[in-house]
Amino acid sequence: MKVHEYQAKGLLARAGVAIPRGHVVGNPEDAYQAARDLGGPVVIKAQVHAGGRGKAGGIQLAQTPEEAEANAGKLLGSSLTTYQTAGRGVLVKKVLIEEAVPIATELYLGVVLDRAASRVVVMASTEGGVEIEEVAARSPERIFKEWADPFLGLGEYQCRRLAMRLSSDRQVRPQLARIVAGAYGAFMANDASLVEINPLVVTQDGRVMALDAKMSFDDSALYRHPDIAQMRDPSEEDPLEEGARIHGLSFVRLEGDIGCVVNGAGLAMATMDLVKYFGGSPANFLDIGGSSSPEKVLAAMRVLLADPRVKTVLFNIFGGITRCDDVAKGMVQALGEIGTTVPVVVRLTGTNEEEGRRILEEVGLEVGSSMEEAVKKAVAKAAEGGTR
Ligand code: GDP
Ligand code: MN
Repeated sequence: MKVHEYQAKGLLARAGVAIPRGHVVGNPEDAYQAARDLGGPVVIKAQVHAGGRGKAGGIQLAQTPEEAEANAGKLLGSSLTTYQTAGRGVLVKKVLIEEAVPIATELYLGVVLDRAASRVVVMASTEGGVEIEEVAARSPERIFKEWADPFLGLGEYQCRRLAMRLSSDRQVRPQLARIVAGAYGAFMANDASLVEINPLVVTQDGRVMALDAKMSFDDSALYRHPDIAQMRDPSEEDPLEEGARIHGLSFVRLEGDIGCVVNGAGLAMATMDLVKYFGGSPANFLDIGGSSSPEKVLAAMRVLLADPRVKTVLFNIFGGITRCDDVAKGMVQALGEIGTTVPVVVRLTGTNEEEGRRILEEVGLEVGSSMEEAVKKAVAKAAEGGTR
């Protein structure tokens, strides 16, 4: 789950990271008040989950409260399209009004999990303000990394080492070290999967602060952070993923046209692999879990069929503790309620397979017990396409 810049900044500030003074507002009148309270020139920043707002016009400068009010008025209620919004516009419901900061240098600071190293890595670069992927591709030697020890955490010496590489200024270095420690602290304390400060700036009078901030969180850990869980902004989430989440399904939307309904995460991964292997393209990852309840199957079908790209639905069910006949009953009920014209291919094997097959064949569904055959059939049906 992602949060807005102002929320990430709040969490970072709590961890000791310096941020500019600012107020988040939802209407132009409050923007005027905020600018007046801050005094001097302000920056008006559209609060959407995507980055790249600067280039897309989502960051505006204002010299006076009147100008702040006018600019906030233009941004609020508008739809912002950046290179990170996947072609669709995102509605701006809030703007952050911040004191404008006189920038001397723009740096980059990020904290992520390095899966290959099985450690949290802190990355820093003097190439701030631009896309870090570009820096990584063009001049990887400009990105400095420190890996945290899983037991000891990030050492003070590691924070100082990063600070040393980012600046030669004796006034600036201790501030940088503190911010590195703070960003790492915020990452760990909140079960984050990403902390990104881009840019981290040194001001003309030698202060260091997070000018932008992004945080993402591990969804599976949100239960122990109710304060963060309630920061969720459903309008920013993929509507299909949001629908699946509400029904307790683990669902990840992909780009293909074969909707996969599978029980078990490992089997779901294997199914997607096989779909790819036979030349098809999965529309999603979906684990309906060990449950055979018709409600889950129904919810899964609704989520899948809401995606207009889905041309075939592939059920791949292994009945272990789950019984095939239970799943079959759920499927019949779900298909009956939905009444779709999209072809459905079923692979069903395991406990009570015969009974499950009988139930499905009664309503005219072809059932296979070989995974390969079912996947091949689904790929072929999707290739025929055009059934919707
Ligand atoms: P993003 O484009 O969504 O990543 O938004 P950022 O918050 O990173 O802002 C983009 C750029 O706007 C920054 O890299 C800065 O160059 C500029 N900017 C943002 N806030 C300020 C500010 O207070 N003062 C100045 N001078 N520039 C700012
Ligand atoms: Mn940025």
